[in-house]
Amino acid sequence: MLTLGSSSANGAFQSYILGSRLPIVVALLAAMVVSGVLGCVVGVTGLKRLRQDYQAMIMLVVSIMATTVIGADQAIVNGNAGLSLIPNPLASLNGSARSWGYVALVAVVCVVAYAFLRRFTRGPLGRSLRAMRDDEDAAVAIGKNVVAMRLMVQGVGGAYAGLSGALLAGFIGGWSPSSWQYVETLALLTAIIVGGIGNDGGVLLGTVIVPVLILQGVQFLPQISGHPGLVEDFGWMILGLLTIAFIFVRSQGLVPERRSGSRPPGSRDLDAPAFAPVPVPVPVPVPVPVPARVPVPVPVAAPVPARVPRVSARVLDRTPPVPAEGVQGEDILVVRDLVRNFGGVRAVDGATFAVRRGSITGLIGPNGAGKSTVLGIVSGFIPASSGSVRFEGTEVTDVAAYRRARRGLVRTFQLPHEFGRLTTIENLLAAVPRQRGETAMSVLAGTRYWRAQERELTERAEQLLEMFAMGEKAGDLARELSGGQKRMLEVMRALMVEPKLLLLDEPMAGLSPMLSERLERVCTEMRAGGLSILFVEHELGAVERLCDHVVVMAQGKVLSQGSMADLRANKEVQDAYIVG
Ligand code: ADP
Ligand code: MG
Repeated sequence: MLTLGSSSANGAFQSYILGSRLPIVVALLAAMVVSGVLGCVVGVTGLKRLRQDYQAMIMLVVSIMATTVIGADQAIVNGNAGLSLIPNPLASLNGSARSWGYVALVAVVCVVAYAFLRRFTRGPLGRSLRAMRDDEDAAVAIGKNVVAMRLMVQGVGGAYAGLSGALLAGFIGGWSPSSWQYVETLALLTAIIVGGIGNDGGVLLGTVIVPVLILQGVQFLPQISGHPGLVEDFGWMILGLLTIAFIFVRSQGLVPERRSGSRPPGSRDLDAPAFAPVPVPVPVPVPVPVPARVPVPVPVAAPVPARVPRVSARVLDRTPPVPAEGVQGEDILVVRDLVRNFGGVRAVDGATFAVRRGSITGLIGPNGAGKSTVLGIVSGFIPASSGSVRFEGTEVTDVAAYRRARRGLVRTFQLPHEFGRLTTIENLLAAVPRQRGETAMSVLAGTRYWRAQERELTERAEQLLEMFAMGEKAGDLARELSGGQKRMLEVMRALMVEPKLLLLDEPMAGLSPMLSERLERVCTEMRAGGLSILFVEHELGAVERLCDHVVVMAQGKVLSQGSMADLRANKEVQDAYIVG
């Protein structure tokens, strides 16, 4: 539209809106911008947290609607007849020189576009995108802005689509809405299914095979006499069969998603010189590895750091430190008159309680008491019907869940929410807030902008894995872990967010005694480092050992609170909840 000029040849049979005759490079860039914006607009339709298959359905429906609307309107692109006489960028060349010149031009654009795309898909940004794909709730829980991420994908994808569309129109010399309908979209979907989701190389291979070799290739087959067009239809039939076959036989595609972040176990040498210190936006203290048998001097009245320090290997022999003056006694979380209705069910019915900074507060009660719902409201996943949540003295009742996570209010889920197609260590790395590799700058500057920080974070994740005795699992896909290991993974991932208040929803359920003990030890250690924990648990032994203060809920209300010993003696509590 930008290159056609105001009146076309052949008696001005075309009508279109702009009538300008701009250089083709400008038109290509404009196509990218407009398509990127349109991509975002279409993306807005899927913003609500919908199931992914519903999102895909919405996308398809919007594309059908758009094609219908644009085909019905004469003013924009001449209706279904479309545009013709689009100038070829290589108009100065003739015959096959022009054709092959175009092939070369497109090849160059492809190489550049692919190299640029890698900056989105490799490294921390790609990891966060894959994490969001695997489990959106978990991505929100570690502070990812999934709405912004999805809009970015739509915008970038739209820009790429605009570029390829403009190149195609320039080559053919014409374009009409009816020549790009949902079957073309399905061809691209087939390409991804055949090539392999989550792998740039796979998608590239799928694109070469499906739209190029198959759909273009069938046009070179001899026509079958008496059945015009049948040969072309074979192409579509092959695509349909390929889709079905790959979904059943090889759902990972020809080139499966790569597992990254796996190092051979034990390859990390503690005696080796540490990586050069690198300025990181988040200051992270480096723990000194202490041999297990050397007694560790316990600093008395050590100031509680504002951020939870990194977990060190000093879990075993450490007496609880004395909380610093001034911090002691302050409530990090205050929940007031919380109510949540689910239809007729009042899941939470006026709950009021507080969590002291630096404490482990237990939240117990029979099944259906409303504990998980309270955790959901506090973390921002479930809107409260009424009542308020204050975190660190600030009202957060209406703050988005991912923002609460970024402020240090981090939850885990009652059922494991791992990023299944990421490795264990990638699950941890994805959770680190404010990574350089997730910024626009990293897309522009490339790997060198984030490599050093990534190395440091990998060290930190490896230490955490060692602490949970899961170092061997670093390179395993999270979905292949056992149930107990997934729970541990979830706690570790939450710790990577550097929480101030950690909300644990029945973390011990299904853990082996050994894993439970390990988790208890870590919780105690983290409390010593200044972390506050709200701990929903069924296992009352653990609650008694760990919790400074226990809140009992029944039927959505807070029944009683105090120390576990007091509660055991409380008749009302005993009646509501047969205390072990
Ligand atoms: P708990 O974690 O203490 O076992 P929950 O908070 O999960 O309890 O549930 C409290 C009550 O709210 C239960 O009666 C449960 O059936 C109901 N409930 C929880 N979530 C929902 C929901 N999404 N829709 C309808 N009812 C719900
Ligand atoms: Mg629950």
